Amino acid sequence: MDALPPAVTSLLDFLIDRINIGIFAVNRNMECTLWNRFMESHSGVASASVLCKNLFQFFDELPHKILYHKINSVFILKNFAFTSWEQRPYLFKFRHHRPVTGGVEYMYQDCTFIPLKDPAGEVQQVCVTLIDVTDTAVYQKMMKEAMTSLAEASNRDGLTGIYNRRCIEEVIMKECQRVQRYGGTLSLAFIDLDRFKEINDTYGHLAGDDVLRITSTFLNESLRQIDALGRYGGEEFVAVLPATDIEGAYIVAERLCRRLADIPVHHNEIDIRVTASVGIAEWQPTMSRYEDLIKAADQALYQAKADGRNCVRRGT
Ligand code: GH3
Ligand code: MG
Ligand code: MG
Repeated sequence: MDALPPAVTSLLDFLIDRINIGIFAVNRNMECTLWNRFMESHSGVASASVLCKNLFQFFDELPHKILYHKINSVFILKNFAFTSWEQRPYLFKFRHHRPVTGGVEYMYQDCTFIPLKDPAGEVQQVCVTLIDVTDTAVYQKMMKEAMTSLAEASNRDGLTGIYNRRCIEEVIMKECQRVQRYGGTLSLAFIDLDRFKEINDTYGHLAGDDVLRITSTFLNESLRQIDALGRYGGEEFVAVLPATDIEGAYIVAERLCRRLADIPVHHNEIDIRVTASVGIAEWQPTMSRYEDLIKAADQALYQAKADGRNCVRRGT
């Protein structure tokens, strides 16, 4: 290749020095042969100090093994190599200068390792470019967090904060598939507040809302960690009880029923008496779909209402 005209060479030197990207190079002994202004200003180390020095001796905090392996692979394979901030946030522990950082302390970096070959095609030096991707990383993290909280919110009921109907049905479906495939026991409890319309009519709709919130918190706290509670309808809740047979479900449901009846809900200086009817059902091998289990628990709930409310009935 013909030598570049001096004007072009000095323009390239100028660009390498002034560009807002870190550029440095090392020879086979890992001695620095190039160290541009970006590297100087972010590392606080002048090019005059680092040139001809071993990079690793100079920068103690560098991930030696990984960086050495990366550079060495370019010498051997004569190909480009890359590191992304997603695998490793940074190579050099540079502080970044952004005011809004989203909790990021060091500059996130994307690095490219470029083989610099002699006319015989041998790699004599490896040039490394280092791009500050802190903004991209911060925005991507914020986006992921927003997506996670949106996904979480889409599973929750707005009034009570427990699972909404869509989500709890999904839980029921998955649990049914699990027992169908791996065996074990599974029960459901449908819990419907008694004469709730009267509570609304007597104390007002806001009081009714409060009763729903307090009751759902009480139910949630009374269940085990592996159980799941959802709001199935207006004043109807469903508890999914994995690893529980009908006898176990009966004990749970009876306890919920009794405690709910014993402890009034306190709203604006008044005590509101709340009772619930509960229908329970256990998954049977003869059932083919999760809807069969829901239907069995729902029919038991209907029976509990018919038998005078504030009681537990079993479905089959
Ligand atoms: P039963 O003992 O037969 O279950 O009688 P009930 O009055 O509880 O049942 P019904 O289905 O007749 O009435 C349910 C009431 O629940 C009617 C509805 O206005 C009320 N409701 C549903 N969702 C909400 C809510 O989000 N907030 C409040 N305050 N009330 C609600
Ligand atoms: Mg009701
Ligand atoms: Mg109801």
